Amino acid sequence: MTMQGETEMAAKHLSSDRSAQRTDRSVQWEAVIGLEIHAQLATRSKIFSGASTAYGAEPNTQACAVDLGLPGVLPVLNEGAVRMAVKFGLAIGAEVARRSVFARKNYFYPDLPKGYQISQYELPIVRGGRVTIQLDGGGEKEIGVTRAHLEEDAGKSLHEDFHAMSGIDLNRAGTPLLEIVSEPDLRSPQEAVAYAKKIHTLVRYLEICDGNMQEGSFRVDANVSVRPAGSHAFGTRTEIKNLNSFRFLERALAHEIERQIEVLESGGAVVQETRLYDPDRNETRPMRTKEEANDYRYFPDPDLLPLVLEEAYIEAVRAELPELPDARRARFVSDYGLPAYDAGVLTASRELADYYEAVVAAVGGEPKLCANWVMVELGGALNRAGVEITASPVGPEALAGLLRRILDGTVSGRAAKEVFEAMWAGEGDADAIIEARGLRQISDAGAIEKLIDEVLAAHPQQLAQYRAGKDKLFGFFVGQVMKASGGKANPKQVNELLRRKLDAGG
Ligand code: ADP
Ligand code: MG
Repeated sequence: MTMQGETEMAAKHLSSDRSAQRTDRSVQWEAVIGLEIHAQLATRSKIFSGASTAYGAEPNTQACAVDLGLPGVLPVLNEGAVRMAVKFGLAIGAEVARRSVFARKNYFYPDLPKGYQISQYELPIVRGGRVTIQLDGGGEKEIGVTRAHLEEDAGKSLHEDFHAMSGIDLNRAGTPLLEIVSEPDLRSPQEAVAYAKKIHTLVRYLEICDGNMQEGSFRVDANVSVRPAGSHAFGTRTEIKNLNSFRFLERALAHEIERQIEVLESGGAVVQETRLYDPDRNETRPMRTKEEANDYRYFPDPDLLPLVLEEAYIEAVRAELPELPDARRARFVSDYGLPAYDAGVLTASRELADYYEAVVAAVGGEPKLCANWVMVELGGALNRAGVEITASPVGPEALAGLLRRILDGTVSGRAAKEVFEAMWAGEGDADAIIEARGLRQISDAGAIEKLIDEVLAAHPQQLAQYRAGKDKLFGFFVGQVMKASGGKANPKQVNELLRRKLDAGG
């Protein structure tokens, strides 16, 4: 046995010992989680200036005097950002504040040249709303949204590419963010992920955020504590900053919950602090301590008037709301008769739901067949190629063209998969591929009967056994006929005709 193997064995023993302890332990622990999500609003210009928000420009080419905090300039609020925040508030059934206030959050950091970040503090634009999440075992749970406020993003420190120095890129400074703060209603990493995904789906439906997590357009800070099950008081929490994927969110929380339980079980106390998740080592470690020492000295920004929204404005925004994900999911179940699972998958993004509905419309029905093909064949191909649905080489009309050929019996389900692959590879539409590759199914009863006669004549012994009561041989005959047809006979017809022929005693 190699050293590697021995270490693994030892590790296995250790972990099973540990889980044995876990089941024995007198206290069962419950996690309490609240998320702060930063969604970058999809405006073309910044929240208080006309500079562009486009991603990926050369460093420091998209920061103007306002973003840089140069003296003598004044911020001007971007109405587009306000409208997006209002949309979000209305979509979660929150109160949209008729009056909200921008405040200065003061702190020093090299990527914050003004020395303060403009945010909202005591009077945010959105207060109190609810989001429903679907739980793993079926069932639903409502999660409270405490508030959502508008703020500007800071710049970015670049630690690579500079020897013993840091670079500062201020392109992101002043980019509009909506910070969405949840109540501490989440009880497991899985619930936290379901909630984060729900918010992600929602902001994309509303077209207020592109949701691109790699580019930092959607970032999650996770607050987590543990407490003995049944206890009502909250434990001391830690905050894990800047999680930029759902997988990292789940892993970081699972790890942090275990860490806190170990601290408490060994008689220690959890320290309130900010921690960073390191995906390479799958662990969290402290980032800043003395959280309480942060004194942001919030005060209303004297350069900006309170934001006052009129009823008519709010109602105009309400009129712009699209059909929301929950409503659309429910409609997919009631109108198309889809299972809840399919409806959930197909409405996870507006683009996917639109694609699916276009396929059903073009086929003119058969919603379950359409759902299977969109989720399994198309979904699989998109995943493998890493392509977004909007860039799918097979559009909804083209897919519908193939499904119609399954429905009218021109191709078998199996041949249809081959046709789909060829369509994906750009070989043309379904009909052209079916002809070019000779995939047309034999549905001519006369031709199939002829094949059946040949097969029966070629296997007199099996035929006698079948007649003597060996029913299992039916499958054998089906297989032989399919083989004789080169796999092209319509299997349903083969079954029917064969049954008729054998039962007729002919
Ligand atoms: P802060 O202003 O310091 O960030 P908040 O009270 O606004 O603190 O809470 C921030 C987030 O932390 C919210 O999402 C909230 O639900 C969550 N939270 C607060 N207390 C706890 C706790 N004891 N355990 C887990 N999460 C918590
Ligand atoms: Mg916080």
